[in-house]
Amino acid sequence: MIEWVKQEEFSSYGEVEPFRWGVTRSQALQVLDRFIQTRLPTFGPYQDAMVTGEDTMWHALLSPYINLGLLHPRELIEAAETAYYEHNLDLNSVEGFIRQVLGWREYMHGLYHHVDEDYFQRNFFSHTQPLPAFFWDSSKTEINCLHQVLRQTEQMAYAHHIQRLMVLSNFALIAGILPQAIEEWFHSVFIDAYDWVMQTNVLGMGQFADGGLLASKPYAASASYINRMSDYCRGCKYSPKERTGDRACPFNVFIGISSIATATRCNPKDG
Ligand SMILES: Cc1cc2nc3c(=O)[nH]c(=O)nc-3n(C[C@H](O)[C@H](O)[C@H](O)COP(=O)(O)OP(=O)(O)OC[C@H]3O[C@@H](n4cnc5c(N)ncnc54)[C@H](O)[C@@H]3O)c2cc1C
Ligand code: SF4
Repeated sequence: MIEWVKQEEFSSYGEVEPFRWGVTRSQALQVLDRFIQTRLPTFGPYQDAMVTGEDTMWHALLSPYINLGLLHPRELIEAAETAYYEHNLDLNSVEGFIRQVLGWREYMHGLYHHVDEDYFQRNFFSHTQPLPAFFWDSSKTEINCLHQVLRQTEQMAYAHHIQRLMVLSNFALIAGILPQAIEEWFHSVFIDAYDWVMQTNVLGMGQFADGGLLASKPYAASASYINRMSDYCRGCKYSPKERTGDRACPFNVFIGISSIATATRCNPKDG
């Protein structure tokens, strides 16, 4: 199959190999089992961390399989619940994981069916900037947090929640990028993309383009959040502490001129 993909003419974005995803139900079950055995026990404390070269951290990597129908969300919940009782796992980790699936995923799904048909066109802040070309080629940016997450996305079509929300989407929001442009990009490059989950997450949660229908405040933050939750700033030519001058972190500069009033009061742990 990989040979066939390489021979055909598809989009030139991203890398075909190594291909690390399962494609059958039995492979999806193996991924679920491995997550429950090895990463669920410490999912809670580390789910918001970002480390250079660590693509998956303690995350499940299960979204493509449930979105495709290879796994049922209830299977994930029951597997986590069973492990909790059998192995006496921390409630923080098990509840945290079940809340992602039963809480956030179902909320997003329900909301997509609840909103009006023009939801995908919303643009609360009237942002109009085009998507920077480096989103399609990670080698073209020296903004290290973006470079690391974009590079990872090119390699595996995956970034975990905080990378998506607080690096990629946060940048687009405070840089004033047209919400539909960043949504189209997310839709093109992620392995788990579907309208119902993309529009609500990117336009609603990430860009606040629906004016707060989904989330009560914009998820926008300066470098201090990224510096606290990752090691990206250590390898960056910009300084997370500076707001002006040549070394000023672009996140600090953009948030300083952004019109998003509540920008620094977000709580990424909520979603
Ligand atoms: C800007 C942005 C874009 C996103 N785009 C997508 C997308 O196209 N497809 C997608 O499935 N998820 C999307 N998400 C939600 C979430 O980031 C992914 O579901 C998660 O990163 C998938 O990786 P995982 O299986 O390792 O998740 P884990 O962190 O291990 O979480 C476990 C499961 O919880 C569910 N979940 C948690 N949060 C959400 C959420 N906000 N919406 C829906 N499901 C959730 C997923 O099914 C996930 O598999 C997006 C989030 C943001 C902020
Ligand atoms: S200093 Fe700014 S641009 Fe560099 S990695 Fe940190 S947050 Fe990103």
